Amino acid sequence: MAYEDTSALPSIFERRESRVRSYCRSFPAVFKSARGAELIAEDGTRYIDFLAGCSTLNYGHNHPELKQALLDYIQADGVAHGLDMHTRAKASFLETFEKRILKPRSMDYRAMFPGPTGANAVEAALKIARKVTGRTNVIAFTNGFHGMTLGALAATGNSGKRGGAGIPLTGVVHEPYDGYFGEDTDTAEQLDRRLSDPSSGLDKPAAIIVEVVQGEGGLNVASDAWLRRVEQIARKHGALFIIDDIQAGIGRTGGFFSFEKAGVKPDIITLAKSLSGLGLPMALTLIRPDHDRWKPGEHNGTFRGNNHAFVTAAKAIDLFWSDDAFERDVARKGERLRAGLAKIGEGSALAGRLKGRGMMSGIEMQSGEVAAEVCAECFENGLIIETSGSHDEVVKVLAPLTISDAQLDAGLEILADAVRTVGARHRKSAA
Ligand SMILES: *Cc1c(COP(=O)(O)O)cnc(C)c1O
Repeated sequence: MAYEDTSALPSIFERRESRVRSYCRSFPAVFKSARGAELIAEDGTRYIDFLAGCSTLNYGHNHPELKQALLDYIQADGVAHGLDMHTRAKASFLETFEKRILKPRSMDYRAMFPGPTGANAVEAALKIARKVTGRTNVIAFTNGFHGMTLGALAATGNSGKRGGAGIPLTGVVHEPYDGYFGEDTDTAEQLDRRLSDPSSGLDKPAAIIVEVVQGEGGLNVASDAWLRRVEQIARKHGALFIIDDIQAGIGRTGGFFSFEKAGVKPDIITLAKSLSGLGLPMALTLIRPDHDRWKPGEHNGTFRGNNHAFVTAAKAIDLFWSDDAFERDVARKGERLRAGLAKIGEGSALAGRLKGRGMMSGIEMQSGEVAAEVCAECFENGLIIETSGSHDEVVKVLAPLTISDAQLDAGLEILADAVRTVGARHRKSAA
């Protein structure tokens, strides 16, 4: 590819930031502040945020109580960095997590803090599964997204992202997700059949890793029955059952965990994105105690345990997960969102199926190009919203779960207008 000299361009970003930058290309503004469900650009333009850091800001931007907890901690010279040494902040997080999340759900897990990103949590999950089982192969699913580091990327389906690896991505095979061939094909049954046949060519896996709702893959949803069946299949064939709850978890699709409704008990759970609550980097790999076979430091890292994130994560759990009020409100809002999206779909030739679950829902457009046009039109009118899916054809709403009904409706109105505008444009160019 020709080398493009950008050194004289007026924008510091175009001049100096790598071409790898991505979201900023869809939303070409410079943002200076944010609060709740709103982002404010340097020129004063206010945007409703239906992206929320890809579900990293489930409690909105700069939640005042989370922010205050962090300010207090910093003011008191609380430890900011301590490798993985014991700190008061870490103890408080673990105590809160045990008391409010694990105990009420009768869950028994060890908390491993990998490096502070989702990909790190997935890398750790895959490593421990391979170590525990002594097997190499991992089964992931079509349209799954698990991160961009080599181990996690191997489990990711998207060919564009895989292409960046530069080396073969090995040790993972992708099986069809629930509904991949339509409603009449039970992909779990097919998986069991192939794993049960020693001549199928499918190696017994160390783990089966799955998202309950595929965030980047187009908001495909696994049914409760399918998840339970996949869990059974994992057990039957001696594999660990891993749920990657990085995007669908922390209240986004129902309970604190996305799989609570299905009643499955994963061997390993990965969490990141909204875990810290304030958008600070933090990741967690939850490991069933009998699988916790790490040797000390066997998976190491300098930033394992972001103390500032411990402070806000503990505060967020106290604030939002002490009773079921938040969860019920999110369920209600999810229905409001889906009703709004369904209405947009009904009125348009370009918009199709409703996708996702609850506050992780979206609408499938005729093509990726149409979806991109709709999102661009939304941005023009003060709404930040992105696409997902094999062809980026799903316009996906990941509004903060704390968004007010009025803001949610206002965002949906902008989206509805954008779908109408793009529809009219297409009709005109077809005529
Ligand atoms: C975002 C995401 C990851 C990767 O997290 P990073 O923090 O970007 O490394 C992994 N799995 C799922 C389901 C995700 O949505």
